[in-house]
Amino acid sequence: MTVHKLRKFTLLTAMLLFPVTIYYMSPYLIFQAAFQSAVNGSFILFCLMTVLSVPFGRIFCAFLCPAGAVQECAAQVTEKPAKRRKLYVLKYVIWAVWLSAVTVCYVINGIDSIDPFFMTEHGISVSRIQDYIIYYGIIILVVIPAMTGGKRAFCHYFCWMAPFMAAGTVLRRKIGLRGLAVAVKNDGCVSCGKCSKNCPMSIDVMEEIGHGSVKSLECIQCGECIEGCPKKVLGYGMVKAERSTERKDKNGK
Ligand code: SF4
Ligand code: SF4
Repeated sequence: MTVHKLRKFTLLTAMLLFPVTIYYMSPYLIFQAAFQSAVNGSFILFCLMTVLSVPFGRIFCAFLCPAGAVQECAAQVTEKPAKRRKLYVLKYVIWAVWLSAVTVCYVINGIDSIDPFFMTEHGISVSRIQDYIIYYGIIILVVIPAMTGGKRAFCHYFCWMAPFMAAGTVLRRKIGLRGLAVAVKNDGCVSCGKCSKNCPMSIDVMEEIGHGSVKSLECIQCGECIEGCPKKVLGYGMVKAERSTERKDKNGK
């Protein structure tokens, strides 16, 4: 099975399981838990995501995120890229405000218990009719940006989980560790642009690989650019980022 097919399979599975898992990704339930001095499922998942992102970047977004899966379905309807790069910062602002508020809640209330299944019914998130209102509300919240703003626009502009993984990636680069990235494997590029066209995160892959590997924090390590390259120029690699994230020109300056 190719990485492309494996990814489609895991995303489909994640989407089908979304009614079960949605409360484990909730930015709201973590507040409820904090008020009751408990560590809930989303707290645990966000910590795991951050740790996973140190070696593997945003691989969760590519292979396991149900919201990502829903948006990739939406991209079958409208394939326009999400190019409003100035708005990418919005998700970090939302995240910083939300994370600060959650931290304050935990500092005030402390932690007395760990309950991974907090507010679920035997581990299942959507178990009552009224839960479907929340469920479909969130689906709409994810689909509308993707339909109007371009491919995976919700990930780019609003996702409260992406910054955890960007933080893990930045940490890895700061301490000089190797991490999963798309890298140039040979010099056969014919500048056809198929890698950029294939990218579900609207990254200008052709421009990025001019520097040896894809360094954008928007990259989710999905491998679609690798799959789309007719000359097999690209591949996964464990890349050691330069300590400085500044890019060098062709003369190394
Ligand atoms: S650059 Fe490649 S691996 Fe990264 S998101 Fe785009 S297609 Fe996926
Ligand atoms: S798809 Fe491959 S050959 Fe085409 S521009 Fe991208 S890296 Fe180069």
